Amino acid sequence: MSNFWQSKIEYLKGIGPQRAQLLASELSIVTYRDLIQYFPFRHEDRTRVYAIAELNPDLPFIQVKGQILSWDVVGEGGKKRLVATFSDGTGFMDLIWFQGIQWQLKNLKLNTDYLVFGKADAFGHKFSVVHPEIEVVTSLDAQTGFLQPIYNVTEKLRKKFITPKALGKMIQPLLEIAPNHIEETLPPIITDKYQLVSRREALLQIHQPKNAEALQKAKNRLKFEELFFLQIKLLKQQLFKKTIYKGQIFAKSDLLTEFYQKHLPFDLTGAQKRVVKEIYRDMGSGKQMNRLLQGDVGSGKTMVAFLAMLVAVSNGAQACIVAPTEILAEQHFQGLSEYAEKLGITIDILTGSTLARNRRIMHERLMNGNLKILVGTHAIFEDKVQFENLGLCIVDEQHRFGVQQRAKLWEKNQIPPHILVMTATPIPRTLAMTLYGDLDVSVIDEMPAGRKPIITAHRYDSHRLRVFGFMREEINKGRQIYMVYPLIEESEKLTYKNLMDGYESISRAFPEFHLSIVHGQMSSIDKDYEMQRFKKGETHIMVATTVIEVGVNVPNASVMVIENAERFGLSQLHQLRGRVGRGAEQSYCILMTDYKLSKEAKIRLETMVRTTNGFEIADVDLQLRGPGDLMGTQQSGVLDLIIADLSKDARILQEARLTAQDILEADPYLEKPENQSIKQQLMITLKEESYWSRIS
Ligand code: ADP
Ligand code: MG
Repeated sequence: MSNFWQSKIEYLKGIGPQRAQLLASELSIVTYRDLIQYFPFRHEDRTRVYAIAELNPDLPFIQVKGQILSWDVVGEGGKKRLVATFSDGTGFMDLIWFQGIQWQLKNLKLNTDYLVFGKADAFGHKFSVVHPEIEVVTSLDAQTGFLQPIYNVTEKLRKKFITPKALGKMIQPLLEIAPNHIEETLPPIITDKYQLVSRREALLQIHQPKNAEALQKAKNRLKFEELFFLQIKLLKQQLFKKTIYKGQIFAKSDLLTEFYQKHLPFDLTGAQKRVVKEIYRDMGSGKQMNRLLQGDVGSGKTMVAFLAMLVAVSNGAQACIVAPTEILAEQHFQGLSEYAEKLGITIDILTGSTLARNRRIMHERLMNGNLKILVGTHAIFEDKVQFENLGLCIVDEQHRFGVQQRAKLWEKNQIPPHILVMTATPIPRTLAMTLYGDLDVSVIDEMPAGRKPIITAHRYDSHRLRVFGFMREEINKGRQIYMVYPLIEESEKLTYKNLMDGYESISRAFPEFHLSIVHGQMSSIDKDYEMQRFKKGETHIMVATTVIEVGVNVPNASVMVIENAERFGLSQLHQLRGRVGRGAEQSYCILMTDYKLSKEAKIRLETMVRTTNGFEIADVDLQLRGPGDLMGTQQSGVLDLIIADLSKDARILQEARLTAQDILEADPYLEKPENQSIKQQLMITLKEESYWSRIS
């Protein structure tokens, strides 16, 4: 049976060696399996015949039935065209050809019923279709209609007459001989539960649907199957890792208890408590922890990080936390030092600007175990930095770190340290599970009590004076303000100029207040100095580029003004807004833009004004941009999906994930008879993958 699917397509009727060669080089279609899995990316609806009177320019491709009344060649040179007047009795439209005029002239007939297919555009009161597909209506069959599959092809294939539709005809002979060879890959318990059509039905219907409903069912089934096997693969990898990578067992929690009883500065939120429990359970399990902690800005991840560190230190091990920038490392250091000192735990900071002299001492203290907690930037990854026993490594704002860097951490210790990755970039949970398939996911979905939701408004540049007036009032109440300028991608110079122009106009508008400025071209010492002045309240307005985006914490800053807000992505706007709303005061975020806005920019701004929920924002972001653009997803490779779309098929993804979990829980090695079809399919996909990775 499996030999059938390995057969080369050149032996299929109507393909032959030359086209087979082309399909192999252009689309990687070599075998019968490749061909049947090359799905159309859309279908043109030929089931419906429109009346010319009901056309409107918003319709996609349409089909009308009628007769040609007359034709004429008009225009000169490049504008020369054949225009035929077409009517179905309800109205008139033009059919237009710029090319192949002679051929059309020879073939067009009067008094003949035609089916015309194409995109109708309105010019004045009349519709016209440029280069329509037309065919003479010969039999009744032609009127019953069908959904025409359209396949992606390359330019080169087009030139060789393998068009998006021609490919459909080439698949036809395979569909005739394939049915008896299509085996079911999912057990009945799954297909029954989710009412999935059989694999055979799905593969036949996706290429040649008998109607829209059958097509929908075919897609559903194939999407489920694809996502299900992806999840099985990810979960099996995770299972495998857990069985081979031992973790240090951290059973003691003395320091944790002491801190809870004596020094906790606030009550933990329910979500924080739950997550700490999850982490504590992982660290005591004997397996290496690989956990992703997602929590919106301001949800209190730092405290969770500290409590996790206490688990390691209670058991005599060391812990480190890696931040993406020096400013953030510094901030973590200050925050964590305050807590660590209460318990007499040693803590230090290592960044690119740590002096060599101090470094040497630090290296020594790490090696002999005198230094328990190390805060830093990627400087921690350097090989010279070795620990006596690193028990836990926390990576903050993960998207700035590649997977390889994470792997590097594992080598820091004989037994790999437990790993906690923290991110404030909320992505829908199921998506996170797929993208970070090797990580368990915890979510802090609750804000500390007493926070007032940030009020967000969109203002046009023409209202700048009113905005300035509002800023002045807030500063006079004792608040501080961020003004953020976008990075201009084309040029650093432009960014700098934009920022400096802004800075000047603000200094002119607010002569009575002190300003700070921070941007990417400043040395980290200068940046730090300015940040500190702002933090201490010595300056009232912080003018900055997005360097202040992540993590910076100044509770007294209660207004965030974002200039050229249309230039920012949703997740970035959300991150920026998270810089305010950290204190007890009512906070505001003002999004400034020009009048001219793209449709997408409008959606982004409206979303920001409507909600402060990071997950809701992430969902909109996902809809707007698709998963390929989400941070950190590019290298993950799990997005090479054939039919499913992670941004649109969340429900199916969820079902597939749960089903995969249930199956593996009951039968981790897929040994039960009812799971043999799953096992076989898994082996086929894994074999294909290793084949591709060997040749590419
Ligand atoms: P993030 O998740 O963005 O890293 P932080 O850890 O910086 O958030 O916390 C934001 C602010 O909230 C800090 O000032 C922190 O002290 C405070 N905070 C954290 N947890 C709580 C809590 N349970 N109750 C009150 N305040 C809290
Ligand atoms: Mg943080």
